[in-house]
Amino acid sequence: METGTLLNMIPADLLEILACPACREALTEKDDALQCAACGRSYPIRDGIPILLVDQARMEPSKIDPVTRTTTPDSPSAKP
Ligand SMILES: [Zn+2]
Repeated sequence: METGTLLNMIPADLLEILACPACREALTEKDDALQCAACGRSYPIRDGIPILLVDQARMEPSKIDPVTRTTTPDSPSAKP
């Protein structure tokens, strides 16, 4: 899937002021959700409106930090 082409649901200026309600970090638009790279929560977007509720968020335990990859619990492609 291409990145940055079909993710025009949230305006950039609005995305800038949105913050994760759990840890107050910035959110990144990903597919049809807003993802917090800091705590790994993913907030759904319904009808173009982001649902920034902690109890509506999904945790992604295996993708906690896909950007920096500081913590990798299991690395299946670690073979030389
Ligand atoms: Zn967060």
